[in-house]
Amino acid sequence: MSLRVYSHRMRKALGARSIAHAVLLGCRAGLLDGQPQRHGDHAGYTAHLRRGEEPCEPCRLGERAYRSTQRAGNREVA
Ligand SMILES: [Zn+2]
Repeated sequence: MSLRVYSHRMRKALGARSIAHAVLLGCRAGLLDGQPQRHGDHAGYTAHLRRGEEPCEPCRLGERAYRSTQRAGNREVA
């Protein structure tokens, strides 16, 4: 799907007149909180869990890599 089509569908779904209006409506609806969201690492993974969400694929992979390095670190210490 092209960006143009995606943009049109998003504006139609929100009943927005423009992208700026869509962002405003998204914020008011609580879909956007204006805070940048981190993805692809341990912090992003735990943030998903804190928000009660299913972690996205990049965050799952990042968490797997993080746990792998944690286990490797523990082996070196022991
Ligand atoms: Zn994520």
